[in-house]
Amino acid sequence: MTKPVPQPGIMQIKPYVGGASGIDGMSNVIKLSSNENPFGPSPLAVEAFQKAGHALHRYPNTDHASLRAAIGKLHGLDPERIICGVGSDEVITFLCQCYSGPETEVIYTEHGFSMYKISALAAGATPVMVPERERMVDVDEILKAVTPRTSLVFVTNPGNPTGTMVSRADLSRLARELPDGVLMVIDGAYAEYVEGFDGGASLVEKFPNVVMTRTFSKMYGLGGLRIGWGYASAEVIGVLNRVRGPFNLSMPQLDAAEAALGDHEHVERCLRENTRLRAWLAEALAALGVPSDTSCANFILARFADADEANACDDFLQSEGIIVRRVAGYALPNCLRITVGDEASCRRVAHMIGRFKGVTP
Ligand code: PMP
Repeated sequence: MTKPVPQPGIMQIKPYVGGASGIDGMSNVIKLSSNENPFGPSPLAVEAFQKAGHALHRYPNTDHASLRAAIGKLHGLDPERIICGVGSDEVITFLCQCYSGPETEVIYTEHGFSMYKISALAAGATPVMVPERERMVDVDEILKAVTPRTSLVFVTNPGNPTGTMVSRADLSRLARELPDGVLMVIDGAYAEYVEGFDGGASLVEKFPNVVMTRTFSKMYGLGGLRIGWGYASAEVIGVLNRVRGPFNLSMPQLDAAEAALGDHEHVERCLRENTRLRAWLAEALAALGVPSDTSCANFILARFADADEANACDDFLQSEGIIVRRVAGYALPNCLRITVGDEASCRRVAHMIGRFKGVTP
């Protein structure tokens, strides 16, 4: 009997491992491993989600017009050039499905988000990893790696798990210097945490080869609901919509996301608290001999002497019920990524790292 054979790229995929799946239901655990918003979603989003539950027998709208209009209004973008997906993960998948495949190369950076590689391989493309410089995306290295087969370039800004940012000038230069026909994707999953950063929207307006992806999973606290979106030229959005399933988002998802956009007070509070606690945590850890780069997101990349120390610290924290993220899979074996939690969680994780280091904070 002949066995069915998947396309070759599929067998090269290492399935995505999330931050501490499997702890659901465990009590007294402090989860700081998935960059979730410790303050949760807006109560308005929860209310809208529950209300939508009364019409579960109805198919959702297929065009997401209302959510796209709300996103467009908030960010000053053309709703016709927005696409919504099941998390920004799905938008990344659409991009790879539509713009890469056998005979093409997809560039991502050394510490970049793992879904770029997975989606490229799933589309049959060759993922090409480009080195970063001191945990910073290096535009020159990206340009050096471009070949006539390059079809897509992914840049996360701010980076995950690094938390560092590429300047607008560098992003602009990359968009300008990439050859025609190469799409540059700015993944702005953490853009809301950077005051004054538009996630790359103005570059999308300026360069037809730039795409921006965004999510409701981080600042909007809706990771569990799975809603993301992308912004690009009308032409690119038209292409992506060809592969989007007609009912990819449910009504509760759509309604909750739209309500979340309207709660500016919640977003402002979460931003303020993140900025304050991120600075506090970074300083507290630095005082314990655990430095980090200045983070522009809702996590800190804590650096240890080596991989053994990072892993031992992770083991110790786990034994104390604190879950953080090992990032050896992102070529950062001597680091742990720690989500900025609420005040009590930040204090607790700093206290426990102090205990691990034998330092009393
Ligand atoms: N991009 C980056 C850089 C991320 O960190 C994540 C989530 N971990 C995503 C995209 C995907 O987010 P979601 O699918 O939840 O929108």
